Amino acid sequence: MDLEYSDKHKTLQKEVRRFIAEHGQQSPKTGGGRKRPDHQVLEWQRLLLAKGYVGRSIPPQYGGFGAEPDVLDSAIIAEEFNQTGLSPGLMNQGISMLVPTLLEVGTEEQRQRWIEPTIRGDIIWCQGYSEPNAGSDLAAAQTRAEMVDGEFIVNGQKIWTSSAHFADMMFLLARTEPDQPKHAGLSYLLLPVTTPGLEVRPLRTMTGRAEFNEVFFSDVRVPGDQIVMQRGDGWKVANVTLKYERTMIGDPGKAMNRLLRIRELMEETRVDGRRLIEWPEYRDRLLRLQGEVLAAKYHGLRLLSDQARGDDSGIGRQIVKLAGTQLGHRLSALAVDVLGAAGLNYEPRGEDVEDDNATTWHIDYMYDVGLLIGGGTSQIQKNIISERGLGMPREPKAANPATATGRGS
Ligand SMILES: Cc1cc2nc3c(=O)[nH]c(=O)nc-3n(C[C@H](O)[C@H](O)[C@H](O)COP(=O)(O)OP(=O)(O)OC[C@H]3O[C@@H](n4cnc5c(N)ncnc54)[C@H](O)[C@@H]3O)c2cc1C
Repeated sequence: MDLEYSDKHKTLQKEVRRFIAEHGQQSPKTGGGRKRPDHQVLEWQRLLLAKGYVGRSIPPQYGGFGAEPDVLDSAIIAEEFNQTGLSPGLMNQGISMLVPTLLEVGTEEQRQRWIEPTIRGDIIWCQGYSEPNAGSDLAAAQTRAEMVDGEFIVNGQKIWTSSAHFADMMFLLARTEPDQPKHAGLSYLLLPVTTPGLEVRPLRTMTGRAEFNEVFFSDVRVPGDQIVMQRGDGWKVANVTLKYERTMIGDPGKAMNRLLRIRELMEETRVDGRRLIEWPEYRDRLLRLQGEVLAAKYHGLRLLSDQARGDDSGIGRQIVKLAGTQLGHRLSALAVDVLGAAGLNYEPRGEDVEDDNATTWHIDYMYDVGLLIGGGTSQIQKNIISERGLGMPREPKAANPATATGRGS
């Protein structure tokens, strides 16, 4: 692994630094995504799109910047935004999961129609996968979509659907071929959340906020052409989306951003007249975590090098979600611990309590528990790593039908 940037990459780095110096004050706070993007977020997103700091390699005909794909460019941009604590642009299920899925397996018409408004933040998507009896074993989804006169008629229920209470559109995994084996009987449909018969009921998490939802379908009509790939291909498409979901959730850049915020907190906060960073037990924990964050960062760069060479990183890729979410949770645990009683203060720091994007370390800590589960639980990730990465014996199917061929695959 060569850690020196080429001249071309050094030039990009300088350009990004100049942009940040000139425009950084326009950045919204990081950590958004729990409500519809407001005016400031949308303006920032458009500025980043115009500069190619988001949607960099998305072709211009789909609203992107159209640069040649270069993984190091993306790494440099992410690093500069993370180091300065600026928002790297919108990161949501539409942009980070559906857009790359459409680029990989969507039709030309679907790309033309959905990608540009999604990356501009005009259309917000939610992911209709999990059901009360189909989480880790996602292929067991029972929500039915029956073809009648050229339309799918959807009936059933989804659960844990993040953002459905403010989303415009949903990508939905539904059973269209009930006679086929479970993995072959699913299809991947796109539909507006406002379609008659679709009801969204918010669920509160332990953060006190409604972050995900139950979604009920009663004779919801979806045009027959609102399908990605073909009938019965839903499992293939869903797994393309899941691949991008795991990368989004385990992103080492987020851990670095969080580490820097904690260091700042420990440098600025005094307890009994001493800065928190000077307390040996906390400093020790911070340094250990810093080592792990740096390991995650260099691991991410190694994966990028593999990607640039067209190599599959195998087990290296599989550990990102598990390691990234565990690290994120331990980082916010350190912040809550160092703040002691103050860490339990529920009021967002000097911010509007009603603002769903306002956050405290305490809220981050609780929210991060969800990230150990969402996108495939830590246990499922461990199954995948041990079975596919380390070649250990597969879980006996008879003992547990919810095998690692589920949500994590
Ligand atoms: C914050 C958050 C956001 C989410 N957002 C969405 C969303 O937007 N859209 C969506 O569709 N879903 C979403 N989910 C749902 C998420 O994908 C599921 O919760 C997850 O896949 C686990 O499914 P489950 O909750 O049904 O748990 P189950 O599958 O019932 O698992 C229960 C427990 O059993 C363990 N387990 C299950 N099978 C095995 C096995 N084979 N080996 C070992 N252990 C096993 C699990 O690890 C877990 O600890 C979200 C979840 C969270 C927490």
